[in-house]
Amino acid sequence: MASVRFDNVTKKFGEFVAVANFNIEIRDKEFLVLLGPSGCGKTTTMRMVAGLEEATSGDIYIDADRVNDVLPKYRDVAMVFQSYALYPHLTVEDNIGYPLKIRKVPPEEYTRRVAEVARRVELETMLKRLPKELSGGQRQRVALARAIVRTPRVFLMDEPLSNLDAKLRTQMRAELKHLQHELQVTTIYVTHDQIEAMTLAHRVAVMNKGVIEQLGTPREIYNDPRTLFVAGFIGSPSMNLIPGEVKDGVFASAGLRVGGAGPFNIPRAVLGVRPEDIHVASAEDPDTNLVAPIYSVELTGENTLVSLQLGGQLLAVRADKNFSGQIDQRVAVRIARDRMFLFDAETERRVD
Ligand code: ATP
Repeated sequence: MASVRFDNVTKKFGEFVAVANFNIEIRDKEFLVLLGPSGCGKTTTMRMVAGLEEATSGDIYIDADRVNDVLPKYRDVAMVFQSYALYPHLTVEDNIGYPLKIRKVPPEEYTRRVAEVARRVELETMLKRLPKELSGGQRQRVALARAIVRTPRVFLMDEPLSNLDAKLRTQMRAELKHLQHELQVTTIYVTHDQIEAMTLAHRVAVMNKGVIEQLGTPREIYNDPRTLFVAGFIGSPSMNLIPGEVKDGVFASAGLRVGGAGPFNIPRAVLGVRPEDIHVASAEDPDTNLVAPIYSVELTGENTLVSLQLGGQLLAVRADKNFSGQIDQRVAVRIARDRMFLFDAETERRVD
């Protein structure tokens, strides 16, 4: 069991700064998710913990040990890669058991532990197969099983579910969550999938261009985004971000006016509001903020996603599953005042 600490870590590839002045402490038993778009430095951060990449400056600690100069094999971390990295000539059983073999675990215990994790990831009938005889999802489960067959100080998982189909992915997500609860091993998990981040993490570090934009619990990140980037990145469908102006406490953009926008003036502002915080109202309702034509209606099953035409952009509204509006019909909506966010477009930071 261990904590992991980055103390002002920077990683450059030539002149390119992939990770900049990274400071974070991942607590013992914590499940920390590094979330961000492609190229933001997630994998590089993770590889530095594994020892597969050297920090250009700064210090990395696992517990009290500075590990910058410790060889990967002595760091006691287990990594699950996006690309499986299985041994092609070894059977499923031997791939899973490999970490036990190099630790010279006696044969009886070896067989028992491999069988146990194989059962956990539903591979018990495939133990004698070679990786090439498995589907992508099954290979990924072998990689996961190999990581959990022993208990390392830290798990590092780089998009371990990204190659699975949607159903298996949801299943494995639940399995990972359960495993984390049982194993209680400090985990750093890289993904660009915000649903995975929200469902698995104790805390999420949202990364953008090599820096942490925001670090917090999934709830904090969702309910209290500090920057435009975080606001737009978290949530599916994503938060509506409407450019406009704040003057005398009123946010105004083409076709939309919302009062209660704070005591400040912002010439270039962005109003952020999530689809579930916009409610279909009646045109007579005095609190109606907008009446606009419907651009599209999508029934998702549990609710209806309605897009309204607002100036040159679309406003996403999550409506009831029984919503019956048609394309081009005009509907009135009300924005939940206490659930809207205001950003300064210049600084991209939240002001209210
Ligand atoms: P993805 O989600 O696509 O895997 P990521 O957030 O994990 O992205 P990294 O793989 O950490 O991103 O890469 C961060 C940046 O560093 C990228 O711009 C990438 O091109 C660059 N980079 C990574 N490895 C190297 C390398 N060995 N040499 C030069 N540049 C690199």
